[in-house]
Amino acid sequence: MAIVVQKYGGSSVGTTDKIKKVAETVVKRKKSGDDVVVVVSAMGDTTDDLIGIANEITNNPDKRELDALLSTGEMMSSALLAMAIKALGYDAISYTAYQIGIKTTGQHGKSLIDDIDGENIKKSVSEGKIVIVAGFQGINEEGHITTLGRGGSDTSAVAIAVKLDGMCEIYTDVDGIYGVDPRKYKDAHKLDEIDYEEMLELSSLGAQVMHSRSIELGQKYNIPIYVGLSNSDIRGTVIKGVNSMNMESKPVTGLATSDEDVAITIKDIENDINTVSSLFESVASKRINIDMISQTAPVNGKVNLSFTIPKVDLNECLDIIKPFYSNKGQIAIDEDITKFSVVGIGMKTTSGVASKMFKLLSENNIGVKMITTSEIRITCAIRQEDKIKAINAVAKDFNL
Ligand code: ADP
Ligand code: ASP
Ligand code: MG
Repeated sequence: MAIVVQKYGGSSVGTTDKIKKVAETVVKRKKSGDDVVVVVSAMGDTTDDLIGIANEITNNPDKRELDALLSTGEMMSSALLAMAIKALGYDAISYTAYQIGIKTTGQHGKSLIDDIDGENIKKSVSEGKIVIVAGFQGINEEGHITTLGRGGSDTSAVAIAVKLDGMCEIYTDVDGIYGVDPRKYKDAHKLDEIDYEEMLELSSLGAQVMHSRSIELGQKYNIPIYVGLSNSDIRGTVIKGVNSMNMESKPVTGLATSDEDVAITIKDIENDINTVSSLFESVASKRINIDMISQTAPVNGKVNLSFTIPKVDLNECLDIIKPFYSNKGQIAIDEDITKFSVVGIGMKTTSGVASKMFKLLSENNIGVKMITTSEIRITCAIRQEDKIKAINAVAKDFNL
């Protein structure tokens, strides 16, 4: 008898009718002979609504209290799903992170799962119960409730599957992973399978379909992650290691875009490696992630230095970099950028991907402001107004 950890996202449990539907699906799986543990997200837009309510109280809510508030969304949906399963005549029990010892470290709002006790889950499963776990939450060293970052229930599910040595299935409102977000490109192709590294890059670069930390965990413990449509038999996508994949890898597997970054330019700073490295060190010390960097050629020993950071970190970053310029006119902030990325492990062995992509962008009169690459990705910063044009051109040519 296998143990399966299923996760249902916010839209899949968005209404009480949808919760009842999920209950039926879960019971069907239990009847087939598997032990089932279910991780749920908050109903529909509950998390956004809770953030809105907190912002009505103050525009800078205390981070501990915000986590205490946001975690209630998942507590509500987990209790409701347990009730719905019991109403079908099957035994079920809902658990919060505290009750099953999901231990976290790190900051409120973006904490990491360190370990899971799991004994209560195992005991309930051995008693024949369907276990429902509130996703997205954990308990830190001080006993405070923390949350794992937006979309974090995926990570709760993978971590529990690791702990129970079970299968992991993520159910959502799309029937698998596509080469491009199907909401942004209607001709996108669904992938049967995708490598952990590729999925990790895509999720970190804006493909919200999976929380990136969940992929890191899956990769670390070599747990295949199935992603599919809730309450449906349509075959989805398996995220797994490249060595166990059947298909020949294409140079480019997927494309992702993100409007969540901002470009900062500091004009006329000393062209001196010590200045630049101490600036980046100061930014890194606040755990602000710099992605793209570019620098102009020196003129009279001075350069213009540009870099991108997440928009949410802008104010903190501006404070930190104050010592590196003398007047406000030296700083330019550009919020109108889209990070446009193509990803594929096939790039390691295929040349010409970058030149093809830049040719496509230039043929479509799309200007590129910054570029960064790794072995398996190429990212460029373009204007937000060019995003759809860029997606259409690149996705079509690379057959994504
Ligand atoms: P859930 O609430 O179930 O966690 P999310 O909204 O977090 O669901 O993720 C599902 C959404 O991710 C889809 O509706 C889809 O628009 C989006 N998405 C982004 N990139 C991709 C992709 N490459 N493949 C499939 N879906 C994607
Ligand atoms: N409810 C949380 C969010 O909206 C967590 C999740 O959906 O995975 O971000
Ligand atoms: Mg999600």
